[in-house]
Amino acid sequence: MTASSPVPLDATTLNKSLRATFESGRTRPLAWRQAQLAGLRRMMDDAAEELVEALRSDLGRPRMESYGADIGHTKIELRHLAKHVGSWMKPTRVRVPLTVAPATARIVPEPLGVVLVIAPWNYPVQLLIEPMAAALAAGNCVVAKPSELAPACSAAMARLLPLYLDPEAVVVVEGGVEDTTALLAERWDHIFFTGSTAVGRVVAVAAAQHLTPTVLELGGKSPTYVHASANLDVAARRIAWGKFLNAGQTCIAPDYVLVDEEVKDDLVTKLAAQITEFYGTDPQASDSFGRIVNERHLRRLEGLLAAGAGTIAAGGQVDAGAGYVAPTITVEPSPEAPVMQEEIFGPILPVLGVANSRAAEAFITARPKPLALYVFAGRGDVIDEVIGATSSGGVCVNQTIMHLLPSNLPFGGVGDSGMGAYHGRAGFDVFSHRKSVLKKRSKPDLKLLYPPYTPKVEKIARRILR
Ligand code: NAD
Repeated sequence: MTASSPVPLDATTLNKSLRATFESGRTRPLAWRQAQLAGLRRMMDDAAEELVEALRSDLGRPRMESYGADIGHTKIELRHLAKHVGSWMKPTRVRVPLTVAPATARIVPEPLGVVLVIAPWNYPVQLLIEPMAAALAAGNCVVAKPSELAPACSAAMARLLPLYLDPEAVVVVEGGVEDTTALLAERWDHIFFTGSTAVGRVVAVAAAQHLTPTVLELGGKSPTYVHASANLDVAARRIAWGKFLNAGQTCIAPDYVLVDEEVKDDLVTKLAAQITEFYGTDPQASDSFGRIVNERHLRRLEGLLAAGAGTIAAGGQVDAGAGYVAPTITVEPSPEAPVMQEEIFGPILPVLGVANSRAAEAFITARPKPLALYVFAGRGDVIDEVIGATSSGGVCVNQTIMHLLPSNLPFGGVGDSGMGAYHGRAGFDVFSHRKSVLKKRSKPDLKLLYPPYTPKVEKIARRILR
């Protein structure tokens, strides 16, 4: 079943019908969960070309980036979930203290119920399917809300998902703010939101009305620090790759670079050279560079470049009709300029010199906690110092983006960049309740526990409960 915007959304009826499916108990067995994960994997194989085309239509995305980020990464995560869900579902036995012995105690993971997954437009396949997959692996029903700003991908998800999944347990709702607001008014058992910090607040307020648990996967300005001991050629290549992937529209893109003053000019030269190596002298003609999602975002980026963005060392061109913002390096913008205040979310990379690692740490910790932090250094003590002195959702050392890839690493933010995490076991856990179950037999039944409480009983109790 697909509820799409031309028909007014009846969120209450939708909620009820999914709840009826959940209450029937059919989503709990391992076989049902495995069937959903297998369905998603089949869909990713069967529809890979359709999805690549949808990503090209929405984001002008190069094929390689679509396969890598939205299809390949999602398939790896699906395989990991399918491989491990059977063991994650099993109750875990824990020891009991003398005070309750003899007894057995177990932690039993149980599905939460009916969950709402809200996705953004920048990786519209991965960021819808992966949270859904974790929810299904944990035995939940799902309402999936793709982003209206990636309409081709949203339509593809709405058409495909019902063909591969239990249609009474998973529903795709296409739509914008109005439909999402209607969904948020309902009581769900979990809301998994990926998007901006501003809308994250809207979701948190709505969730609070029903005390619904949430995971908020938000954004922000992810810093990169380059120490003088770093291999600058490798740093420039890896920073440029992470920044200009998907035309900079990546939640964990290096937002800006802090670099030791003594190597700043060198790094800027190498970053500029790297742009030419990746995309040629005219990046607009390159098949390997994407486009900005829509005119509003393009104008926003143009505004960031106009307002005190620093000295442009590479790029700077904007072709509004073509949705093109050139891969751009700017040097020494004012920390007060909009480009250093707002999440850039586009192919503009500010570079600022700092005296040393301590100054970089002070700069980073004076700002909201970021989703990702990148450190490039040859010296292990510097790397450890920066990791220890700062807080961020995740850290990647001497590379960008890649800490997102291992399914065994929880992915999520901290502070303004979000709360909660997923990928692999972490995703299964957020969509499960860890129910404590203590089992005792009828005998022995020590009378000590029960009134009347005599001084003798109290004495024994005090001895045991020390
Ligand atoms: P967004 O917050 O504008 O939209 C996200 C979702 O919320 C969409 O489905 C949209 O329809 C819905 N929405 C928008 N306004 C709403 C409102 N007022 N009430 C209810 N729902 C509303 O985000 P976006 O522009 O799609 O994505 C970009 C942001 O997402 C960036 O900040 C980026 O850093 C962040 N992001 C984070 C991650 C992560 O994993 N942490 C991943 C990708 C993107």
